[in-house]
Order: sequence, then C-alpha cells, then structure tokens
Amino acid sequence: MIIGVDVGGTKIAVAGFVEGSAGGSAGSAGRGSARLRMVTDVRTVPTPADAGGPAVVRVVADVIAGLCDGAELTAVGIGTAGVVGADGGIFSATDAIAGWAGFPLPTAMADALAGIGADGIRVAVVNDVHAAAVAEAQIGAGAGSDSILMAAVGTGIGGAVVFADGLHRGATGTAGSLGHAEVVMPDSLAARQCPCGGHGHVEAAASGPAMEQTYLEKSGVRAGLREIDALAQRGDAMAIEVIDDGARFLGRVLASANALLDVDTIVIGGGVAEIGSRYLGAVESSYRTSALPGPSRARIVPAELAVDATLTGAAILAHALS
Ligand SMILES: [Zn+2]
Repeated sequence: MIIGVDVGGTKIAVAGFVEGSAGGSAGSAGRGSARLRMVTDVRTVPTPADAGGPAVVRVVADVIAGLCDGAELTAVGIGTAGVVGADGGIFSATDAIAGWAGFPLPTAMADALAGIGADGIRVAVVNDVHAAAVAEAQIGAGAGSDSILMAAVGTGIGGAVVFADGLHRGATGTAGSLGHAEVVMPDSLAARQCPCGGHGHVEAAASGPAMEQTYLEKSGVRAGLREIDALAQRGDAMAIEVIDDGARFLGRVLASANALLDVDTIVIGGGVAEIGSRYLGAVESSYRTSALPGPSRARIVPAELAVDATLTGAAILAHALS
C-alpha cells in the first residue's frame, strides 16, 4: 500500500492507495507513473501544531498503522505547506506548525515508521500545491493535457507547473510561486506587505484574506469572501469591484507566467476559486485580454479533486520513487 498524507496547519489527512485504475481510464501520456486507486477512507486528525514536527510524524505514523491493518507498506508521500528542499526537508514555512521550517521531515518520518514496525520505507515530501497539481494533471482537471500551470488561491496564492515529464519543482523547490509575482496595482494595495516581506505581490492583493481586507477598507464592513461574493451577485458595487479586481490581478499574473511557460491548461483551485462563477469568469477574461496570442488559447479550468488532491498527488509522487 502507498500512503498519501496532507499535513495542514490545523488538520492532517491520510489515505491508502494501491496501483490500479478504478475506471479503466486511459493513462495520460508521458507522466510515467502507474495510476493509483484509493482503497481506504480518508482519516483526518488534528495537527499537533504547537508540539511541532516530532509530534506530527508520530501522529501520522499512528494513523498509517491503523490504515495499513496488515497490508504491506511500500511508500509514503507527504504534501505540506512551505517550500520543500531537494532533500525533502522543509526549507521555509510559516509558524503554523512550530519549528516546521528546517524540520528534517523525510528522516523523521522514516524513523517514526520504523517505530511502528515499517523499516526502510521511502518517504517523499512535496509542497502541498505541487502535490495537488500532480494529482490534477494525472486524474483531475488537467487529465489529457500536455502541460499545466496550477494556481491555488486561498489564504495565500500558491502555484505549480507540471510538464509532460512531470512536476517542475525548480532548483530550490520554489517553482510556481505565483503569489509573489509583482502586478500593477493601486498604491493603497501596493503599500501592503506580502507575507514574504515584499510589496506589490499579487498575494497581498488577491488572496482570500486580502480581498476581505480590501472590502473592509472600502466599505467599513467586515465580511467573509463568500458573503462578499453573495453581495456582488446582488449588485453591490463595492463587492463587485473587490471580486473583479482580485480576479483581474490574478488573471494578469497568469498571463505573464504563461508567456514564460506556454502551458496548454491552467487549473485554478483553492477556497477562493470555489466562491462562484463570477470570480472564475473574471480571471479568465483578464487572462485572455493580457495573454500573448498563443498562450491566450490555453484552457482555464477549475480544479476537480478538492480536498483529496494533495494527499493523492503525494501518493503518486511517492509511488514514482518506487
Ligand atoms: Zn510575496
């Protein structure tokens, strides 16, 4: 059994997979790894965030022990927030999990697995959006496409690039960091500091919390993004402006990114992408206006795999190591 794990700041989700295709669907050319089929339920446990990495790997190992129930474990793939270095260690991360940045996750996980009697298990660690993009490319919204750029728009803006021969992690694991692309924006937004410390970055203007902040500054009313979207649907001019501006900034960044990459499919996921058709329509129209003639023909599609994307992609990558 191959295990996929999604380590988030508040919860950890784990599921087991075996090789094989559920629906006999055709493999996507060139991606090299056999298809996986989820054979367990998805187990979810709270993240022991304050206790940090050593507690996280113990919790994950315990859940895996319960899931395997005698089945032979062959590989474990872990998707997690943060930049993952070439060695699978966490190169940088927020403080959502204490001491996560610098934590040697692959070796600590392998040690924890040895503690449940599973010795010598390969552990693959990958950024959570990178993992989600691998799953979308193989069995989700990007299935059948040659190359995808994924944008995950939620509390931050992440991204990933998957070419025909697989995930492009980049020299330092940072590839696809769309949120930190600069975009032309009004001074009031450009003055905001991005979580990375920079200014003028699209994440500071177009993430979910950023759009909520903009609405608060414009209207004096604190509202969640879904509420703002509902107001926009009822014709509230300020809400429309906030949603459309956020979408427009993202669309322009995607157009710049795809001038470099020229992928055939752009997949948009994350909580913000789920607020409704107005947002995705505005992203697409901004993209098509700004993109070069060739890349402007790229398909733009919403993500399909939702909450299981990261753990599924992590399992696919772990399996590819075997
Ligand atoms: Zn930034």
